Amino acid sequence: ELAELSALLHSRIRDVPDYPEPGVMFKDITPLLADPSAFTALTDALAEFCVANGATKVVGLEARGFILGAPVAVRAGLGFIPVRKAGKLPGATLSQSYDLEYGSAEIEVHAEDLVAGDRVMVIDDVLATGGTAEASVRLIRRAGAEVAGIAVLMELGFLGGRERLLPALDGAPLDAL
Ligand code: AMP
Repeated sequence: ELAELSALLHSRIRDVPDYPEPGVMFKDITPLLADPSAFTALTDALAEFCVANGATKVVGLEARGFILGAPVAVRAGLGFIPVRKAGKLPGATLSQSYDLEYGSAEIEVHAEDLVAGDRVMVIDDVLATGGTAEASVRLIRRAGAEVAGIAVLMELGFLGGRERLLPALDGAPLDAL
């Protein structure tokens, strides 16, 4: 039951006001990670979404997308590909920069990890402005792979991330549990 799952997950997320800076309500998932039944339920639901959408690989966005995405990949029987902040991957990379409120950021993937024919599910904990997810979609497409969808634990709807992502998604599903 989806409503029951959402309620369980919601109850394990801690709101931390003014972190890491004034005005931000930080969504802390560490209580969820520490609760095996909630973490398992989340993993199962995300893995099901991967399978339902024909994903062949899972991309996790640094850093909490690694914690959520890795068990999802194992559960779904798929490979896990880390998308990292610039300068962290040792091999040949593709990189994609994107604008932040102040300045810009850059993410990278090992070029050999994504190839034509791959259908990639992107996993992260929080969809906020959608900038990170949008950059990951561009990266995946530039590698020649297809985007199977984006799956997040939660979406901060008031920031308009879904609307921002819509054109880049090009019909691929965006699911927030
Ligand atoms: P954005 O690119 O604005 O969608 O930001 C998404 C990234 O920043 C994700 O990787 C989140 O982990 C992190 N993030 C943004 N806002 C929050 C928040 N309020 N609480 C926790 N994480 C956040």
